Amino acid sequence: MHPDRLATIGGEAYPARRVARTIAAGVEAARVRSEGGVVRWETGVSAESVLWAMWSATGLASPWQETALAGGPGAQRADRDLDAVVGLFDAAAKFADRLPQAGPEEFLTHIQSQDIPGDTLVARSPVGESVTLVTPQAAAGREWRFVVVAGVQEGVWPDLRLRGSLLGSEQLVDVLTGRGGSFRGAQAAIRYDETRLFLVALTRARERVLVTAVRSDDEQPSVYLDIVDPLPDELDGQRPFTEVRRAMTLPTLVAQLRRDLVAEDGQTRSVAVSALARLAREGVPGADPAGWWALRDLSDDRPLRGPDDPVRVSPSKVESFGQCGLRWLFSACGGDGPSMGAASIGTLVHDIAAELGDADESSLRAEVDARWGRLGLPSGWVSDRKRLEAHAMVGWLARYFERAEREGWERIGAELDMQVTLGRAVVSGRVDRLERLPDGSLRVIDYKTGSAKPREDDLPSHPQLGAYQVAVDGGAFGEHGAVSGGAALLQIGKGANKKDITLQVQRPLHTHDDPQWAARLITETADGMAGGTFTATVGPWCEMCAVKASCPAQPEGKTL
Ligand code: SF4
Repeated sequence: MHPDRLATIGGEAYPARRVARTIAAGVEAARVRSEGGVVRWETGVSAESVLWAMWSATGLASPWQETALAGGPGAQRADRDLDAVVGLFDAAAKFADRLPQAGPEEFLTHIQSQDIPGDTLVARSPVGESVTLVTPQAAAGREWRFVVVAGVQEGVWPDLRLRGSLLGSEQLVDVLTGRGGSFRGAQAAIRYDETRLFLVALTRARERVLVTAVRSDDEQPSVYLDIVDPLPDELDGQRPFTEVRRAMTLPTLVAQLRRDLVAEDGQTRSVAVSALARLAREGVPGADPAGWWALRDLSDDRPLRGPDDPVRVSPSKVESFGQCGLRWLFSACGGDGPSMGAASIGTLVHDIAAELGDADESSLRAEVDARWGRLGLPSGWVSDRKRLEAHAMVGWLARYFERAEREGWERIGAELDMQVTLGRAVVSGRVDRLERLPDGSLRVIDYKTGSAKPREDDLPSHPQLGAYQVAVDGGAFGEHGAVSGGAALLQIGKGANKKDITLQVQRPLHTHDDPQWAARLITETADGMAGGTFTATVGPWCEMCAVKASCPAQPEGKTL
C-alpha cells in the first residue's frame, strides 16, 4: 500500500506507515528499465544501495543509537538490532565483492536460501583477552583459566521445577534408581542433573573459580555455596558479605550518585549534586531529577469513571478487588501478562465441558486426548503428567454430572452470558454451568481447576458465589428463571478431595441472616472500581500476585 493511503489513519497506523515508506524507498532505489521486454537494473543499483535507501527511510538509526548508549535492558535489544543491520550490510558488501554483476534480486535470493547465517559479527569478536559468557551446558568440554559461576541462588540452582530435558537423562536415572514415574523420582532426577551441571561449571577452571550469590530479604544463597565453601563453625551459619566495587557503567554511577544524595555527610551530598547536574547536562539517562518518578506529581487524579457512568463488575473479580484494589487495577489494565500453562489446561477442560454437555467420563477423556495437541506442550513426562491431571478433572466432572441428575438438577446450559444492572454496577460475565430444579430455582456452578479452595466457614459470604446469586435474582438468565437456588464451586483440580466430589455450596441468599449483603458488596465494589484511588493492601494473596514487581508496597516495586 502506498504510504499516502495510510496517512488518513490515526497514530495506530504509524508502524504500518513506516514499513510502507521503507518499501517505497526500496522500490525507488531499485530503478529498473525494460530493454526489449527484458528487465535490467540501472547502472549503479546494487543490493547495498537499495538497502541503504530503505534503512535511511526507516529513520531508526538515531533512536536505536541513543537507546543503545543509554544502558539498561532496552540498550541490549537496540545493540542486537543494530548488530543485525550491520550484519546485513556486511553480507551485501561481501556478496557484491564476489558477484559484482549480480543485482538486488540475486542478493535477496541468496539471503532467503540461507538456513543458517553465513557469517556473524560475533564470530569476529576478540578471542584473546576476552570474557566468554556461556551456560553450564555450553561450557561442557571447554576450559578457562578463571571461571565465575554467578548467581548461585536458592531456587535458581538447583532449580527443582519439574521439566523434561532434551536427552531425557532423567529417564536413565529413573531406570537406575528404580524410581521411575513417581513425583519424588522426577525431583531426584532433576536434582542429580542440576548437581552435575554445577560440577561441570566448577571444573571448567584451570586456575581459579569464583562463585557468587546474594543475600537479601527476598533472596538466599544456594546450599551449593556451602558445599564449595563450607562455613566455619564460629560464623554461626551467617556468611559475611563481600564488598563489591561498583561496575564501571553509567547507570551504576548514576544510581550511586542518587544514593549519595541522601548521605549524612554534606560533602558527599554536594559532590553528588554537582556530578548529577553535569551528567544531566550531558543527557545521561536517570541523572535529571525531572525524570525521577518519586518527584513527579500525579499525572491525573480524576476518578476512572464519571459519577453517572456504569461500571462493569465481573463476579470473579469482586473478591480480588476486595483484597487489593491496586492489583485489580493493574490486572484490568493488562498487567497480568500472558496466561500460564495451568490456565490453558483449565480452559481446555472448560471448553470440553461446555461443548460435550453431560457426557460420560470416557467420552470426556477421549476429547481431552483429541484436543491435547492444541496446548503445544512438548512431548515428555511433563506433558504426560499434565494430561493425567486433565483426565482427573474431567473424571470429577463426569461424576458430578451423574450426581446432579440424581438430585434432580437439570442442565440448562454452559458458558452462558449473563448481565444484570444494579445501580451503576453492571454485573456481567459468563457462567460455567447453569442448572435448574423442578421448582424452577436456578443454580450457577463454577468449575475450579486450580488449588485455591475457600474454607467452609467462608462459603456463606463468598463474594463470587454471592454475585452469581444476585445476577440470578435480578433476572440475568431471562426466560430460564429469576429465583436463585444457591451457587456452588465444583473443585476439579488440586482443590478436589481425593475420595468424593468436592462441591462447595452457598445456600440461597434469602436464607442468609442478611439477604442483602451480596447486593451491597457489588454496589460498593462498583464505586471502588470507579474511584480515583486504589490502595495496595498487603496480605497472603501477595504471594501469587502477578503485578508484584509494580507494587509500591513490595521491595521489588519501590522506586527512589
Ligand atoms: S503485591 Fe500485594 S499489595 Fe501489592 S498489588 Fe499485589 S496483592 Fe496488592
